[in-house]
Amino acid sequence: MMNEITCDICRDLLPLVKDGVASADSEAAVLRHTQSCPECAKLLGGEPLAAAQPPASPKALLKVKRWLMWIYAALMLLGIYFGLSLTAGHDPFYNCLIMPIAGVFGYMAFRWRAVYIMPAVLVVVSFLGNALGFITVDGVQRMDVSELISWIIIYLLFALAGMIIALLLHFAFGKTNSNTNSERGV
Ligand SMILES: [Zn+2]
Repeated sequence: MMNEITCDICRDLLPLVKDGVASADSEAAVLRHTQSCPECAKLLGGEPLAAAQPPASPKALLKVKRWLMWIYAALMLLGIYFGLSLTAGHDPFYNCLIMPIAGVFGYMAFRWRAVYIMPAVLVVVSFLGNALGFITVDGVQRMDVSELISWIIIYLLFALAGMIIALLLHFAFGKTNSNTNSERGV
C-alpha cells in the first residue's frame, strides 16, 4: 500500500499531521513523502525521520536509568571500600586513583547530589570499617578518630576531584550532543 501523494496533497495534510489529528494512513503518507521531498520536509519541521520513529517508552527508559543509577552507586561504594581498605597499607598511592574513580561513579549515579551523598557514604563506611577493623595501619587494626578524620578529608578531596572531572566531561559531552537529546548521557 505504497500510496504516493503529491506535494499539494502533502501540504493539505501537513496541518493535520502537525496537530496530531491526521489518520495513521495520512500521517504515514506524509512522512513517506517528506523523506523524498525536502521542501515538504522543511514545512513539516525539518525532521521527518525523527517524527517517523516511535518514541522510546519513558517508563522503560526510567527503568534503565534507575538500574544504571544502582550500578553506579554500587561501583562508587566498591571504590570507597577498596580505597579505605588500602588506607595506610602498602600503597596509599592507589587511593589517589581509586577515590577519584569512586567520585566519578558517584556523580554518574547521583549527579550533583553526589556532593553530599558521597561524603555521607564515605564517613559512614569509614567509621563502620574502622569499628569492624577492615582498615589496618601497619598491622594495627582501628585508628584513632583524629587519624580517621584526616584520612576522610584527604579522600573527600580526591573524590571531589573525580566528581568535578565527571561534571566537566558531562558538560562537554552534553554540549556536543545537544541535538540528539540523548537520555543515555548518564
Ligand atoms: Zn513535496
